[in-house]
Amino acid sequence: MIDFSQFEENLRAVRERMDRACAEAGRDAGAVALLPVTKNHPVDAVDYAQRCGLRAVGENRVQEAADKHSCYDGGVYWELIGHLQSNKAQQAVAIFDRIQSVDSLKLMRRLDRFAGEAGKRLPVLLQCNTGEDPNKYGFASDEMAPVLEAALGMEHLQVDGLMTIAPLDDDSNVAKAAFDRLRGLRDALAEQFGVGLPELSMGMTGDLEIAIAAGSTQIRVGTALYGERDG
Ligand SMILES: *Cc1c(COP(=O)(O)O)cnc(C)c1O
Repeated sequence: MIDFSQFEENLRAVRERMDRACAEAGRDAGAVALLPVTKNHPVDAVDYAQRCGLRAVGENRVQEAADKHSCYDGGVYWELIGHLQSNKAQQAVAIFDRIQSVDSLKLMRRLDRFAGEAGKRLPVLLQCNTGEDPNKYGFASDEMAPVLEAALGMEHLQVDGLMTIAPLDDDSNVAKAAFDRLRGLRDALAEQFGVGLPELSMGMTGDLEIAIAAGSTQIRVGTALYGERDG
C-alpha cells in the first residue's frame, strides 16, 4: 500500500487529467466526480480518500466492504460497483449507500424488497453492457427500456442513471463506442420516460479521458490513485 503523500501526488495527477479532459471537451471542471476505488486495498485507502475530502468510495465485494464499513461510524458514502449475487442483496442494502451494478430484474426486485424492509429508498444505477463484452455483466442495450420501466415502478429504488464498463481493448475507439452508446441510451431513455437519469458512471484509470469526452459524470478510479492491486 502506498503512503499518504504518494496518494496526494497521485490525486493531483488524476485531477489534472480530469481538468484537461473537461477543458478539451468544453465541459466545466466540476462536471465530473471522482470515485476512488478502494477494492483490494486495506481500509487505509478509504482513510486517504476521506482526508482529501473525497467522501464516496467504490468497492466491488460485499464482504470486503462490510469489513471496512465496520471501521466507520458514518461519513463515508459506500458505492457498490461490482456484480452482486441476489443472495447478498440484503447485506448490500445494509452497507451500501448506492448500488451501481444492478444487472438483473431478479436482483432489482430483491433490492427493492430489502430497501423497503429497511425503510429506505435506495439509489441505484442500471449497469448496461454497451460494449457487448461477453465477459461483463450488465443489461443489453435493447433490454434497457423495459428494465427502466420496471425500475421506475419500484417504490424503494431511486434510479440515478446508468453505469458501464468498457471492454479492455488496445483500440481506444472500442471504449469510445461503448461510452457514446451509454450516453445516447441515457438521452433516449430520459426523453422516452420523462425522467432525469443524471448520473453516467463511466471511465476508469485507462479510459477516463475518453469517458469524460463522451459525457461521463463520474469516473471510477483505482490504479491511478492507489497503484496496482494485489488481487
Ligand atoms: C476495479 C474497478 C474500477 C477501477 O479500475 P482502475 O482501472 O483500477 O481504475 C472501476 N470500475 C469498476 C467496476 C471496477 O471493478
